[in-house]
Amino acid sequence: MARYTGPVCRLCRREGQKLFLKGERCYSDKCSIGIRGYAPGQHGQGRKKSSEYGLQLRAKQTARRFYGVQENQFRHYFDVAERKQGVTGDNLLRILESRLDNVVYRAGFASSRTEARQLVGHGHFEVNGSRVDIASYLLKAGDVVAVCDKARGTEKMKAIIEANGAKPVPTWMDVDHDKLTAKVINLPNRDQIEAPVDEQLIVEFYSR
Ligand code: SF4
Repeated sequence: MARYTGPVCRLCRREGQKLFLKGERCYSDKCSIGIRGYAPGQHGQGRKKSSEYGLQLRAKQTARRFYGVQENQFRHYFDVAERKQGVTGDNLLRILESRLDNVVYRAGFASSRTEARQLVGHGHFEVNGSRVDIASYLLKAGDVVAVCDKARGTEKMKAIIEANGAKPVPTWMDVDHDKLTAKVINLPNRDQIEAPVDEQLIVEFYSR
């Protein structure tokens, strides 16, 4: 399925919150949420009341857009999460967090998940010593992600690390910005995941 290539700030405005899709700009006063904090389109400033279905749909779309996952894959993740033991919503978020592009972004090796996806696709990362260029690759506890030798010395990578190296790293990862490695200590619990997502509404959406 084709990836969304339109203006990404519209997605944040549609969901009414920052989804951090544009790297540095998201932390600046150029962020569209601060400038035009209403939904895009002709009726963006109109009716605000949502039905129950509307709330569930928005919760699902928010999660999908936040992690940059297409509908089919998101639905697949939900099915897997449902089959696993434990709370389905927590399982779903854990799967989304364990994607390689997310881990690269969370570790500060990219400014946004979109950039992380691009860098992974270009073969700039290894997992446990082997090159992996699949952004949706799911990591396990104990896996080590590293910037590959070829990308280490590039100006682009240096600039990314300089801009993002000081950002807080999740507690479920051990990141070494000198060695450019990130170890997944454990897959995160819900309280270790910072995401603007109401997973219960997503479960209700798919259980309709
Ligand atoms: Fe969203 Fe970032 Fe655009 Fe702000 S700048 S609206 S957070 S993508």
